[in-house]
Amino acid sequence: MQLRYDVPLTTTFRVSARARWYAEIREEAEIQEAIAFAKQRQIPWLVIGEGSNVLLTQNFPGIVLHLQMARITVESGSASVILTVEAGCHWHTVVAFAARRHLWGIENLAFIPGSAGAAPVQNIGAYGVELKDVVHRLRAYDTQTERFVVLDPAACQFGYRTSIFKEHPDRWIITAIALQLSPTPRPQLTYPDLAPLRAATHLTPGAIMETIGQIRRRKLPDPAQLPNAGSFFKNPIVDRTFWEQLRRRFPQLPGFPIAQNRVKIPAAWLIEFCGWKGKRRNGAGVSPHHALVLVNYGTSSGKAIAELAEHIQQSVFHTFGILLEPEVRIL
Ligand code: NAP
Repeated sequence: MQLRYDVPLTTTFRVSARARWYAEIREEAEIQEAIAFAKQRQIPWLVIGEGSNVLLTQNFPGIVLHLQMARITVESGSASVILTVEAGCHWHTVVAFAARRHLWGIENLAFIPGSAGAAPVQNIGAYGVELKDVVHRLRAYDTQTERFVVLDPAACQFGYRTSIFKEHPDRWIITAIALQLSPTPRPQLTYPDLAPLRAATHLTPGAIMETIGQIRRRKLPDPAQLPNAGSFFKNPIVDRTFWEQLRRRFPQLPGFPIAQNRVKIPAAWLIEFCGWKGKRRNGAGVSPHHALVLVNYGTSSGKAIAELAEHIQQSVFHTFGILLEPEVRIL
């Protein structure tokens, strides 16, 4: 492995933070080497993909692993096609690869920033599709047993923007994911933004991908221009009775019923109701276009963004009695 000392870290929030050690990983065996190095020195480890879902509030005192393996292989069966994707692959490259081959299943997840290895960690989701819907199996290094393992979807314990990897962030290092995609059309167009596509006569995964690209460019700030990490908070899921009580006090409160008498509330609505949309504080701010996206207006300090997030959490809690949980990992 190629090891460097005291390295500046790149994340889409573009705040300043350094790693004490930084390892470029080009093959699986180097993961074992890097973890052994950390265990020997009793320092923590951290895998950073494209840094699109992390907020660094201080220097990292251990070793950062950057996985660079990025091959995609295709196995065709009669009813489905398995795409095996190495962790370092850029996620949208995978979506575009599948769309070019007319394979269905991940087109709604187009243009989500980040690497393929990070996608299962928070079970990325958009427009009614979640990664868990297509995961066939995945390969990971178990830092506890010091072995490579293959996990099926049940073992990954996927939930709404979560998984076993998010619950135990230091245990497994995902090296590849196998996705089961369909050669026959399976459009998922239930979200209102995609309604105009419902009347189309000849839909392709590529057309859905492009439409989603246009919607996202309209709604979400481009991290290359205005540093951000996408949705900062998860949409809270509450009991139906609690949601009904709240709705009596706030008649406009939206809610989407999901399984087991639970209701998902759009966090963006709660944040906007509390007056945060477009607000700025100490170089950090809330996007004027999307209240769920915190943006860096020029601070080098991750702490300023974390403090803004805390203020938002406090005011949403004070108003609605709901504690917003960050989707972004804060370190
Ligand atoms: P939107 O369409 O304005 O909807 C607002 C919220 O309501 C969404 O968060 C969505 O929850 C929920 N929602 C809307 N229609 C729904 C339906 N038919 N059934 C169930 N829930 C529904 O959302 P948006 O902010 O423009 O985002 C569009 C999609 O892209 C969403 O799925 C969102 O999660 C995803 N996205 C993810 C990120 C990220 O960084 N993770 C960033 C931007 C957008 P869900 O979030 O559960 O879908």
